[in-house]
Amino acid sequence: NISTTPKRYRIMNWKNENVLIFLSILVLAILFMNMFSSPQSVNNQEIIYSEFVYKVRSGEVLSAQIIGDSAAEGFFADGTPYRTILPPSYPGLVEFLRKNQVQISYVPEEGTPWYISILIHWGPFIFIFLIWIYLMRRMQGGGGGAGRLFSLGKSRANRVDPNEHGITFKDVAGIEEAKDDLQEIIEFLRDPDKFRKLGGKIPKGVLMSGPPGTGKTLLAKAVAGEAAVPFFSMSGSDFVEMFVGVGASRVRDLFEEGRKNLPCILFIDELDAVGRHRGSGLGSGNDEREQTLNQLLVEMDGFDATDGIIIIASTNRPDVLDPALLRPGRFDRQIHVPLPDVSGRLEILQIHIQKVNVIEAVDLQVIAKGTPGFSGADLKNLVNEAALMAARNNEDAVALPHFEEARDKILMGPERKTMVMSEKEKRSTAYHEAGHALVAMLLPKSDPVHKVTIVPRGRAMGVTSFLPEQDVRTHDKEYLSNRIAIAMGGRAAEEIIFDELTTGASNDIQQATETVRNMICQWGMSERLGPIVLDDNQEQLMVGANFGREQNYSDETAKMIDQEMLYMINHYYQKAKTLLLDHIKVLHQVAEILMEEETIHGQRIQELLTGNPNRDAKTILTEPDPVT
Ligand code: ADP
Ligand code: ZN
Repeated sequence: NISTTPKRYRIMNWKNENVLIFLSILVLAILFMNMFSSPQSVNNQEIIYSEFVYKVRSGEVLSAQIIGDSAAEGFFADGTPYRTILPPSYPGLVEFLRKNQVQISYVPEEGTPWYISILIHWGPFIFIFLIWIYLMRRMQGGGGGAGRLFSLGKSRANRVDPNEHGITFKDVAGIEEAKDDLQEIIEFLRDPDKFRKLGGKIPKGVLMSGPPGTGKTLLAKAVAGEAAVPFFSMSGSDFVEMFVGVGASRVRDLFEEGRKNLPCILFIDELDAVGRHRGSGLGSGNDEREQTLNQLLVEMDGFDATDGIIIIASTNRPDVLDPALLRPGRFDRQIHVPLPDVSGRLEILQIHIQKVNVIEAVDLQVIAKGTPGFSGADLKNLVNEAALMAARNNEDAVALPHFEEARDKILMGPERKTMVMSEKEKRSTAYHEAGHALVAMLLPKSDPVHKVTIVPRGRAMGVTSFLPEQDVRTHDKEYLSNRIAIAMGGRAAEEIIFDELTTGASNDIQQATETVRNMICQWGMSERLGPIVLDDNQEQLMVGANFGREQNYSDETAKMIDQEMLYMINHYYQKAKTLLLDHIKVLHQVAEILMEEETIHGQRIQELLTGNPNRDAKTILTEPDPVT
């Protein structure tokens, strides 16, 4: 397509692409040959380049004589001579040596013919130049099949065009909330100009967190598909390579690629591989990762959201990410992608079943109910396995027994990490979570209940999630004491219904105890002990050790603290229990719904309590709290 070629590049438009490839290989070959045929002194200690870099950084290298462009010789600080082969055209080497106070000298390679020295000195530039030409050409659509050849140091970004993958929201099921959250971004990518004119605020970065296999990658692709924009993906673990600087340059390339294809989506899988908290871990010297992370931060700050790039990253460990990544202007929008509940699993099954031949009569609902804790990827796998089972039995359609066999195979398989709940566990979890939710619903001055699920997540068997109305940093005493009562609600419900105690509430109790202790000792909220700080919790948290608390009070006071804590915990436990007993009918109803559907929304509980989904149940209870 010469006609579209800008004038400046026209001169380079050789008819034959191969000339370019040939030249590049020639340059490379000569550089390599030269590297390996360098004369070697026998008594020098040969070290590999990465060791050399390491030693320079740790100050062990005194001098370096760079020979040609291929080797360096010199002395360590302890006087021993060394020799190392340099990788071709390593940028910034001299700068790096200078920064580390290494004496630098330079000799041209001995005995090399003039044309080879020219190549050695100019080779890197020629090589870069050729790559540059190549990229320019490819940008104009003339790349052809030569792409692989030059992709050595280039980004390994995986480009997918929207009409190629064709994944849209109809391929994603069971995570409606996440889809809703992404709607705005799709609107923006479809017509960035419109948003620009209206001055709308668009997030640059969206962080999707959730267990593996829940469809985070799928969702990101679907956003690209819905908006009909190209999708570039790279995995965080690709960034972290052995050589210093490679990761950072890959990040640079990824963004470069993005800027050339506006609007588009850049997707970074496994963000935690690069984005771990800096300086964490023993030794804490992973420079490569740190450099990569810094480059990522620089790139993210370097463009304006209205340009039309959206960066989506996924992780299943949002807790280990460097806080710098989550600042405004970076990944400031978080979307949680949870494991699907019964109805979600049903929808996901319906999608994947389309590709196999299933007997009409199979009730997918049964399969969905029998697979708590399965992710979308697990369900896809289930359908595959079932189809294989059917094929193995020489049947031409998949029936219910195949699904059940497949499920058992997946569950009992060696690497199964899904948490399977027995009927009994499911029942006690349902009452436990219903207990939390009801207490929270009934107490004034507490965060509204968003929803309750008994889909296991992490180590928790169930979760009651709240929708705090705003981000308040300071809480008053009433709010805090209600939180304790809510935490106690789970255990209280179990006690009322089963009259036996399980370990399911240990986390709640720990949390409640911690809150009570802080109320008494840190925030001076106990009237008996008065407004005084009674221990130095903060410092212990920083050290992270638990060598027992350092006391700044007498044993007498310690006893009082213990008594006060016991009193308060018990008081709130009783309070939760009373509330639940007063509304025992609703407790049963909520637990039944949970066992049946696994998820219940706050509004539905509200309706059960007040007869109206929008009427606040807190108004039922208005008597003041008599606790001191
Ligand atoms: P993640 O990125 O969260 O680890 P993936 O997006 O890679 O998960 O999911 C792997 C596969 O599992 C997807 O390609 C898709 O076929 C299937 N899958 C996962 N979640 C869903 C879902 N919610 N709806 C439909 N299919 C799903
Ligand atoms: Zn609980």
